[in-house]
Order: sequence, then structure tokens, then C-alpha cells
Amino acid sequence: MKHYPFLNLALTNEPMMEELKEAACSVIESGRYINGEQCRLFEQEIAQLCQVKHCVAVSNGLDALRLIIRAYKELGVLHNDEKIIVPANTYVASVLAVSDNGLNATLCDIRNDTMNLDSHGIESLLSPSVKAIMPVHLYGTPCWDEPLMSMARHYNLTIIEDNAQAIGAKSHIPGLNGTYMTGGLGHAAAVSFYPTKNLGALGDAGAVLTNDEKLASTVRAIANYGSDYRYHNIYLGLNCRMDEIQAAMLRVSLRHLPAEIERRNAVASAYCEHISNPLVTTPHIFEETTQVWHQFVVRVKTRDHFRDYLKQNGVDTDIHYATPPHLQPCYRQFKSYKLPKTTALANEVVSLPIAHPITVQDAIEIAQIINDYQV
Ligand SMILES: *Cc1c(COP(=O)(O)O)cnc(C)c1O
Repeated sequence: MKHYPFLNLALTNEPMMEELKEAACSVIESGRYINGEQCRLFEQEIAQLCQVKHCVAVSNGLDALRLIIRAYKELGVLHNDEKIIVPANTYVASVLAVSDNGLNATLCDIRNDTMNLDSHGIESLLSPSVKAIMPVHLYGTPCWDEPLMSMARHYNLTIIEDNAQAIGAKSHIPGLNGTYMTGGLGHAAAVSFYPTKNLGALGDAGAVLTNDEKLASTVRAIANYGSDYRYHNIYLGLNCRMDEIQAAMLRVSLRHLPAEIERRNAVASAYCEHISNPLVTTPHIFEETTQVWHQFVVRVKTRDHFRDYLKQNGVDTDIHYATPPHLQPCYRQFKSYKLPKTTALANEVVSLPIAHPITVQDAIEIAQIINDYQV
């Protein structure tokens, strides 16, 4: 029986193994391991891809989010105990970045088609203490629409994008800056280069994106012990820098990203076209956007039974995410929140294999296995 792995990073990175080794060697031989040329070049390349003026390479995606909020506090834009609207269906890190800074997340329920924040739900959550919104482009689907933008403009809300799962994705309408790429739509954005992400390092890495020069320099200073120049500390800073070796690895993967996005789109289209089992709901393909399919998430009411069946037929799957933030033990304060769509989704989601080396042919075969599924 053929085996379809969910994710095997050694296989995923296999096509660029030689390039990675060469790039790693050149960093090792350079003798420069922090704050060097690789990070600077990578920052320029990411800024160009995401159509933003400034990119600051940092230690990981959670730190990127934490640094944005912390920098807005230093700049007097955000303050302790204020609120940020965050979608209830997200990875817990989006919410952790808010609580870590002494602010509170206000969780917003989702739309079933995008599985992302429902901008029509924002207005009822607003209060004078709500100062920002954090759209999360979850699974690689852009979370951006007119109501979100007009709400932000009308109520003077700062938009912090969690672009951890969607680098290279494109919205159907322009953002606040007139550009289309996720990560450049709002006021600031965080990216994660965790190894499993579409653009993954060989360890932890992340980035902050923004057109706001003041924010970028504040983030850069905080991430470097709070120093604006050597041995001069203007903030109670942190150490959240990206390693040169990770920047070098990422510059290699970045060259392969367009092909990877194309492959993921072809696999996603094949799944949607060939899965015809009424027990399985496939995700929505939005014609005028570029989704990057970090995950391909279907909904099945009999989830455990379905996963067991797929496993028996050689198909590995995963769940993103079984326990949403509002049901995590560390967030007892959210337990009473009514988030019916997110809660229902969390009980039904199944992620199908989509990472390299899954091919369109694999997707068609997996679709056939899915179409034979019965309860
Ligand atoms: C991965 C991820 C993060 C955190 O990024 P790390 O690099 O793992 O710290 C934050 N938000 C979302 C939506 C993510 O998927």
C-alpha cells in the first residue's frame, strides 16, 4: 500500500539540500554569525516580496508579534490593559503575544468560508479600550475585506497582521498602503519561518514587516537589547535576533517559494475538484486572491473515524487546531465566550497532506480514497 506522509521535512527540503549545504558552509566560513550580510539581504528580499518598506529579521513568529505590540507601547500607540481583537480560530501564539504585553485579546468568531476572522462581527466587540485588530491569514488564506478596513479607519484601530502562515499570499483588494500582498496590508505584520511553514528555516526565525519607519527602528532596537547604537540602551530590550545561518537558509528556500506556492495551489485544486464525498467539506478557493495553502483543511463531522480510515489507507493527517485558544487551560477567562462557529470548526477540521513531495497525482489518489469513505 502506498504511504502519503503528512509532513517530512527532510523530504520537503530534499530538492534544495545541496544549495542549503553550500550556503551554510559559506556562513560558517565567513565568521559572521549575528547581524551580518545574510540578514540584511534577506530583509530586503522579504520587503520586496511583501511590498513593504521595512523588514526586521527576528528570532521567531511569536517574538515578531510580541515585538510589534511592545514597540507600539513604547511609541504610545498601545497601552497596558487595552484590547486587541483576535480571531478565535488561530494558533495560540497570536493570543500569547497580546497577553505577554499586558493587553487583552477580544476573541472574534469566524466565517465558515474563510475560516478566518469575520469582519462583520467586529463592530459589536468594539469599546473605547479596543485599539487594534489582528487579522490572521490562517492556513494561507488572506483575511482582508472592505468592512475590516473601513472599521479600522473609522475607529482609528491599528491593524497588526499575523502573516505566519501566508507569506506570498495576495488579497483581492488592496490594503491600507495600496498594495496586495499579505504582510503589507495593515500597519504592521509578523511572519514566522518555523521549519514547517511554507518558507521555513532550519530552526526558529521570524520577521516584522511595516511601512512605518519609526515602528521598524523601535522593533529593531528592542530586539537588540533595546539599543539604538552600540552599548547605548534606550529601551528595556530583549534579544530577539535572527541568526545569519538561518537567514542564509531562508534565502535559499525563498528562491523555491514561487514554485512551492504553485505546487500547493495545483494540489489544492486537485483535491477540491476530485473530492466529492458529501461527508467531507472542502475549503473554499477564492478566485481573485492567491491563497498559499499552508494547510489544506477539510471539515468532517465524524473526524476521528475519518482519520482512522485514512490512516488505514496510508494517508497521514493532522488537526489545526483541536483546541482553540479560548478552550486552553491557560486562558480560563475565555471559557464563557460564545464562539459557536470556531468551536464547531475545531471539532471537525482535518488537514490533508499538501507539503512537498505530495503531487497532484497523489491528491487525486487521496481524493479517491476519501470518496470511498462511509460512516
Ligand atoms: C507558527 C505561528 C505563529 C508563531 O510562529 P513561531 O515562529 O512558531 O513562533 C504565530 N501565529 C500563527 C498563526 C502561526 O501559525
